[in-house]
Amino acid sequence: MKTIGLLGGMSWESTLLYYQFLNQGVRERLGGLHSAKILLHSVDFAEVEKCQVCGHWDKAGAMLGEAAAGLENAGADLLLICTNLMHKVAPQIAAQIKVPLLHIADAVGTAIAAQGLKTVGLLGARYTMEEDFYRQRLKEKFGIEVVIPDRAERELVHRVIFKELCRGDFREESRFAYLSIIDELKEQGAEGVILGCTEIPLLVKPEHTALPLFNTTALHAEYALDESFAATPVAVA
Ligand code: GLU
Repeated sequence: MKTIGLLGGMSWESTLLYYQFLNQGVRERLGGLHSAKILLHSVDFAEVEKCQVCGHWDKAGAMLGEAAAGLENAGADLLLICTNLMHKVAPQIAAQIKVPLLHIADAVGTAIAAQGLKTVGLLGARYTMEEDFYRQRLKEKFGIEVVIPDRAERELVHRVIFKELCRGDFREESRFAYLSIIDELKEQGAEGVILGCTEIPLLVKPEHTALPLFNTTALHAEYALDESFAATPVAVA
């Protein structure tokens, strides 16, 4: 079993889930008192969010790259960025380390492809939904088409993430709003929906909709466990 390094705290609400999924996964695989070997660097999310709002992505990338190097030096064999959005600076972070950085979109793309789906909806932070760093990877590596909500809905999804979910505030009315957006994504041809923000699975769960949901937090953790137990390391682009 390899040691998994986590770049967390973005927000800590979802980093908790990573910790839980990784440990549960090791228990399922090894049983007894076995638990995951984890190193965590948890940042102050307010500092990261400030960089996002100001467009200081290089600064955020440098901060996370330094944290990643610290995890590698401390003994991490592979690394996860515990957020979809901050994969926007994944290349900058990967450049600071030699160990594999397992991309969250690869975890999700693998799961979607395994179900044979071709078109999926994407909910996440505004940048994740609108920019190329996430959707392009799904398209190029897995041939998956992504549909996104309209502008007003994207704003709502984004606002709920930053004003509620990342603050531990889970509201029924926001769940209903998300579910109605999920219905509209289905109208646009989505055969499933990526919960492309690591906190959304705390709000929207499979029992709330008939459409398949792709829980990026759980899938990313599972992907890391597969790698952690693999005899041959996965190829990381
Ligand atoms: N956790 C969220 C995500 O998965 C957004 C928080 C952030 O990284 O800014 O994208």
